[in-house]
Amino acid sequence: MMDTDLTNYGADVFSEKAIRRHLPKPVAAKLLATMRDAKPLDPTIADAVADGMKNWALVHGATHFTHWFQPLTGGTAEKHDAFLEPTGSAQAVLKFSGKNLIGGEADASSFPSGGLRSTFEARGYTAWDPTSPAFLKRHAHGATLCIPTAFCSFTGDTLDMKTPLLRSIQALSRSVERLMKAFGQKKAHVTVTLGAEQEYFLIDRRFYLKRPDLLQTGRTVFGAPPAKHQQLDDHYFGAIRPRVLKFMAEVEERLWQLGIPAKTRHNEVAPAQFELAPTFEEQNLAVDHNMMIMEVLRQTAEKNDLVCLLHEKPFAGVNGSGKHCNWSVAYGGRNLLTPGDDPRENAIFLAVLVAVIRAIDRHADILRTTTAGAGNDHRLGANEAPPAIISVFLGDELNAVLDAIERGTKSAARGNPKPSLRIGVDTLPPLPRDTTDRNRTSPFAFTGNKFEFRAPGSSQNCAYSQTVLNTIVAESIDALCDKLAAMTGGDFHANLQKLLQRLVKAHRRVVFSGDGYSADWPKEAAARGLPNLRDTPAALAPLADRANVALFEAYGVLSATEMRARLEIGREDYARRIRIEAGVALEIARSMVRPVVADEFSRLATALGQAKADGLKTGIRGLTALSLKLGAGLDDLHVKCDRLEKALAREDAAAQATAMDDLRKTVDRLEGLVDDARWPLPKYREMLFVY
Ligand code: ADP
Ligand code: MG
Repeated sequence: MMDTDLTNYGADVFSEKAIRRHLPKPVAAKLLATMRDAKPLDPTIADAVADGMKNWALVHGATHFTHWFQPLTGGTAEKHDAFLEPTGSAQAVLKFSGKNLIGGEADASSFPSGGLRSTFEARGYTAWDPTSPAFLKRHAHGATLCIPTAFCSFTGDTLDMKTPLLRSIQALSRSVERLMKAFGQKKAHVTVTLGAEQEYFLIDRRFYLKRPDLLQTGRTVFGAPPAKHQQLDDHYFGAIRPRVLKFMAEVEERLWQLGIPAKTRHNEVAPAQFELAPTFEEQNLAVDHNMMIMEVLRQTAEKNDLVCLLHEKPFAGVNGSGKHCNWSVAYGGRNLLTPGDDPRENAIFLAVLVAVIRAIDRHADILRTTTAGAGNDHRLGANEAPPAIISVFLGDELNAVLDAIERGTKSAARGNPKPSLRIGVDTLPPLPRDTTDRNRTSPFAFTGNKFEFRAPGSSQNCAYSQTVLNTIVAESIDALCDKLAAMTGGDFHANLQKLLQRLVKAHRRVVFSGDGYSADWPKEAAARGLPNLRDTPAALAPLADRANVALFEAYGVLSATEMRARLEIGREDYARRIRIEAGVALEIARSMVRPVVADEFSRLATALGQAKADGLKTGIRGLTALSLKLGAGLDDLHVKCDRLEKALAREDAAAQATAMDDLRKTVDRLEGLVDDARWPLPKYREMLFVY
């Protein structure tokens, strides 16, 4: 049963409560201050902190510790060390030192580095991130103390997702502080917030084990669409089946123990597709929590003889899975994207809003980079997923506000019947909060009090998209502050009004309220000068753009070398994934599909010969037609397999992807012709509906 009195909420986290209980008072106070202010840990207390942490972990059954980090593979990594220290013959103690806690050395040679690290210098270093609390991973025979860490190479270049994220949070915090100072606000803490909605598929394990494509690539490279899939919209928000509900309850129970505020669960649009959303948290913590959520989903599925598919497009023809990243910034606890009742608060809201719009317009290319990947290529622009063109959706009310800003105060004076807006004086019209279903086709939508970035894929580490978002908004806020500062003389709000008017005029082209799926949108977007980076190779290219490199260097988020490395890693990962998929497709087609088709064809041919020899009057037509179809399919299969094999021999991912798609068409057609009992792969109608 679920923990309805919440006694176990956060029990597996080295939380404030655990810290106070297991550390001497002054040490606890110092550590908590470090965590709150994101300051480096005072090394003189490291031993005491480590000892208390170990005692807490031991009480909970831990035997090992690990630095837990997020390499550029997109997953998480850990290397366990026992607390055990031998002290003599057949004697040992359990120890955990401050040195072990603060830093670690890991052999980095097998993590992608994009050429950052030569093999003779394979060492990598991990460093504790005290802003994300340590936690316990449990297994059947105990537990492991996990210490969230950053990961860098011998030369100090980052090899992970967390370090740039932390740097970008700092950059954005500084810019926001500067903006708030310009508004005459008292100094306060900036909190960047993230609520990441996680979509996933669940299928029965029996089917999974019979699909080498799912096992090896996470997606089906073959499979004809079933007659019924999502046309009736009968799955979305439907009653959750008992087996799935049991799974979800177990997931939530575990997440709650880990202090992860899993809040919302529901059926998604595609059959066998679901969503889990936690309540938003401080961004760095929310990213760590999302990584843990993905792991708990996978593990809990396994315990229930299910498989959780986190791939962006496990099944062709139905919805793919995204990770909607809800983003906002708070100052002294006040959400800056909440329009308030006070006109002066609204001036801040409008300044931040316009800064975000400017950021997305100027830096859409680098933001698109963060959603690149072989899996997401199948999703973006397909069913119910935003297109690859980055645009901003605001809603009617905010569009009207932008109109009013664009018109400015003067036009109102000239007797314009439409109301103008005097920033810092007028209040905003009420903006509805519940905007859930307003425009699902937009990749970047304002949803009442936050922006929802919907392009990131379900399997992607959201740290990267958040890093870029923070950085480009920081740049935009700084640009706004620079321009304000340059406007000498005149009233602050009047200057702000003029500036926002100019910025809205310059950047409004990125705002799009229409249907992002329509065939006209790419044309219109091109006319507006918005980039349309269709696939991964195109989407990665902006990482090499000089202006982008200069921006990330200026904000100290990524160096030129680090960006180059990310470009290399992205390209390699893409090429490798396509290659693996193509290899798996070829193997399935040749060794599973072809024998069955050939066998069926030869049986038909024999039956046909027999029927003719016996002089039968009926059945000849049907047998002839079917054997012609199967024979043609068999020939086609042969040709397409050879073509794919040739593409595989060349290092040409695009050719491999095309050859794979072609082969798929043939195989999917054959699926509808061959005896169902003998088709070698579980079908979509089974996998998506039988669970
Ligand atoms: P949706 O209609 O998109 O499903 P929800 O109300 O379920 O919207 O919220 C989606 C996510 O947005 C949740 O994780 C929620 O906590 C998060 N969210 C709400 N407010 C903020 C905020 N200020 N900053 C970041 N995320 C937020
Ligand atoms: Mg949503």
